[in-house]
Amino acid sequence: LKKKAKSAGKIAHKVEHAAVLGAGIMGGGIAYQSASKGTPVVMKDIAEKSLDLGMGEANKLLSKQVERGKLKPAKAGAILSSIRATLSYDEIKHVDIVVEAVVENPKVKKSVLAEVEGIVEPDTIIASNTSSISIDELATAMKRPENFLGMHFFNPVHRMPLVEVIYGEKTSKEAIATVTAYASAMGKTPITVKNCPGFLVNRILFPYFFGFLGAIRAGGDFAKIDKVMEGFGWPMGPAYLQDVVGMDTSHHVGEVLAEGYPDRMANSDKSALDMMYENERLGQKNGIGFYRYE
Ligand code: NAD
Repeated sequence: LKKKAKSAGKIAHKVEHAAVLGAGIMGGGIAYQSASKGTPVVMKDIAEKSLDLGMGEANKLLSKQVERGKLKPAKAGAILSSIRATLSYDEIKHVDIVVEAVVENPKVKKSVLAEVEGIVEPDTIIASNTSSISIDELATAMKRPENFLGMHFFNPVHRMPLVEVIYGEKTSKEAIATVTAYASAMGKTPITVKNCPGFLVNRILFPYFFGFLGAIRAGGDFAKIDKVMEGFGWPMGPAYLQDVVGMDTSHHVGEVLAEGYPDRMANSDKSALDMMYENERLGQKNGIGFYRYE
């Protein structure tokens, strides 16, 4: 293992400048994490409002650390100024890596990925934070699929240690090594996963969600089930966790898993999830899911 890690280290390109596309929950979190561990980052979105929210979130996280005496105000200021918010592609031309974290829609992602590939330098690594779309499918939009792979963070990014590094049919060893090293530099625990429906974590997690959704359809009370699972030792119950993940993301992952594993997951009862998604009860991101948020 050590030998392997060493050789991976040799072929990894050091990420000195990064870009994140999308300043939403995930993009904002990834930008904050990169900057706070010393890699400056450009955060690009198509909406000024999202950029303001992303920067506001980073500022809030840094201020909390200053209040707790964990960070000097000057250092917090320096970290914040190493995140550059922009609406223009011009500022990402020379970065070492682009992490795409725009909405979970294959059509939008493919067009954004193709667009950004035409702007960056030929050896720039492009990673997608998709939680459900096949890396090989997204790679069909790319001219250099060898430089493309998945870099799947979990929400909230600053608290969740794991990052799935997902390689497709054409991903190069250099791309895997570079993203693995970048995730480690961000203070995360990278694991390498071959592209498949649900990757690793969601493939394991969603059958649990499906079990929960089936239980509430059978008359179970979601808040009581949350208490039960907390009593079982989990840090939060399934309803609260679904609110954190977001019903839009969960809905897409559920569809991909049902299609990817028809023998095991196609008949899962996810009607409660589908109903919430259709009624825009998306969870914490818009203030209402299973619970209400201020
Ligand atoms: P979000 O809706 O909070 O943010 C998406 C952002 O993308 C918005 O700010 C939007 O303005 C921006 N955007 C849309 N089109 C764009 C474009 N062409 N160029 C630049 N920006 C654009 O979504 P999110 O929850 O942060 O999810 C983003 C990605 O991360 C999705 O692929 C999702 O599946 C994945 N993900 C989400 C979670 C989660 O728990 N929310 C966890 C892991 C991965």
